[in-house]
Amino acid sequence: MQKLTTQRQAILDVINLSDKHWDADEVATALKERNNPIGIATVYRGLAALAELGLIESIQLADKKRYERASKDHHDHLVCQVCGMIEEFCKTEIERLQEIVAREHGFEIQDHQLLLFGICKSCKTGEK
Ligand SMILES: [Zn+2]
Ligand SMILES: [Zn+2]
Repeated sequence: MQKLTTQRQAILDVINLSDKHWDADEVATALKERNNPIGIATVYRGLAALAELGLIESIQLADKKRYERASKDHHDHLVCQVCGMIEEFCKTEIERLQEIVAREHGFEIQDHQLLLFGICKSCKTGEK
């Protein structure tokens, strides 16, 4: 594997820190807090490159991409359009149905993302 630049390694380290779904601004802030500030344009390019290499996962939201560590088990996402909360789920039946749909179309799935957009429980009930 090609060696990562120091900057890309630093970005990867931040993503791997937690289970969060990071956007570029949050990664830049975390880098600054770790006394390793990297310009936002470089962070954007680094995130795209790391996702391309399969070292992190990207999620395409309506307005931007978010990234998470690639070492998690497969899962899909619930996205709250009020507060931005992202929750993970994995439903065996859904995974299985996708395989059936693909087979019916003579299609071979290589990857998939399922995003459900809506309003989370606490935004709906006003409870936090
Ligand atoms: Zn919410
Ligand atoms: Zn996730």
